[in-house]
Amino acid sequence: MQIDKNFIEKLAGSKSVVFFTGAGISAESGIPTFRGRDGIWNKIKPEELASFDAFLKNPELVWEWYNHRKKIIHQSQPNPAHIAIAEAENIFPEVAVISQNIDNLHQRAGSKIVYELHGNIERNYCIKCKTFYNEELDFSKGIPKCRCGGLIRPDVVWFGEYLPEDQFDASENAVKNCDVFFIVGTSAVVYPAASLIFTAKQNGAYLVEINIEETEISNFADLSFFGPSGRILPDLMKEVKASLM
Ligand code: NAD
Repeated sequence: MQIDKNFIEKLAGSKSVVFFTGAGISAESGIPTFRGRDGIWNKIKPEELASFDAFLKNPELVWEWYNHRKKIIHQSQPNPAHIAIAEAENIFPEVAVISQNIDNLHQRAGSKIVYELHGNIERNYCIKCKTFYNEELDFSKGIPKCRCGGLIRPDVVWFGEYLPEDQFDASENAVKNCDVFFIVGTSAVVYPAASLIFTAKQNGAYLVEINIEETEISNFADLSFFGPSGRILPDLMKEVKASLM
């Protein structure tokens, strides 16, 4: 891959780097994306599965879908893109990952600071008393219920729900202080998560997009790499490391 030497120098001199990631970064781990070429939402309507109303109407169907996704996620491994981001912590003084993904792959790759904007499929909680259930749930007697009698749901953010405030605030702080802001494998159309791209730009960060195709924010980015993140990110980190030797 041909990479502009000026960009590598700029990146190598950065103090704080943020990686804003979406479903595309996990595509090479075998986890389907929602939008884009092979996205799931081309086949299913999101509001039928990923909303609180859908859950109240048909918890069995929603759980079937999440258990199916969980099985895929458990069978998958972090790919070279997740690993390159985790290793970036050895290159730059400050690194933060802000992910829209619920698959836990950044943590499994070793990233230490990961802000989860849309929750994590490994956690669950009661819709009534909000007690958390982090262990595997038992579905042998139907949809699992809390001791208080409330239905247990996955700890993921559904359409129409608020983002976890602490995660969003911490993300905003990281974004406001970063030198380079990577936008990796996201269609950048899910708000308010995508608003962080504009916050980054307003605060002077250099925006670098990595995606297999053009997106809504491609014209807005300072630099775009079109190709799989599992190839581009390791190449970039290799070049930066070489330039620092
Ligand atoms: P999205 O599905 O809307 O978009 C995925 C993007 O990734 C597309 O722009 C696509 O072109 C790009 N892409 C696909 N393969 C790629 C690759 N190998 N390298 C680089 N880019 C690639 O995803 P989104 O923007 O994250 O937003 C949708 C919502 O979907 C998020 O809220 C997230 O919670 C949820 N989601 C999460 C997972 C997961 O946890 N792995 C999977 C599917 C959806």
